[in-house]
Amino acid sequence: MITIPIEVSARHIHLSRPDFELLFGIGYHLALFKNISQTGQYAAMEKVILENGDKKIENIRIVGPERRETQIELSLTEARQLGLTIPLAVSGDIAQAAKLTIIGPQGQISKNCAIIAQRHIHASLKDAEKYHLHDGQIVSVECGTQRAVIFRQVVVRVRADFVWNLHLDTDEANAAGLQGGETGILII
Ligand SMILES: [Zn+2]
Repeated sequence: MITIPIEVSARHIHLSRPDFELLFGIGYHLALFKNISQTGQYAAMEKVILENGDKKIENIRIVGPERRETQIELSLTEARQLGLTIPLAVSGDIAQAAKLTIIGPQGQISKNCAIIAQRHIHASLKDAEKYHLHDGQIVSVECGTQRAVIFRQVVVRVRADFVWNLHLDTDEANAAGLQGGETGILII
């Protein structure tokens, strides 16, 4: 039996350096709030507001470090709150991303960068070898107890520095009665 730790990814934003400076000012740098499980990544102190017409969501935390492209990850519930249709996509694929306005303390930008992240597993090269998995493979994971759910269409992402974890969004976690910190069972 292959088990995997479950983590719940709440809504967040990754910012490029140019977008970050437009929102927070030239020369501004992210401050560490806390490290997260994936190597080198952290939740920052800074937050932004997302807006679509007269609808908005505040307190969107920035996850650092800065990335090449700005990307917002929301749940389907949050997409509804914003009155937006947001595509499901693997993190990093923003070709079809929905347009939103991002508001920071020093400025705002509108761009196509919002996705609903496809549920995924982070695997190192070692993990992939050990469990006979490959990058892009689709698997299922059984999670939960009283509200147990088998999540299908879980994409395996393999990278040298990844840490063995299943990432679900808050809608998925709520559906299965999960808080994060539980363990799922891989079904290949
Ligand atoms: Zn992830």
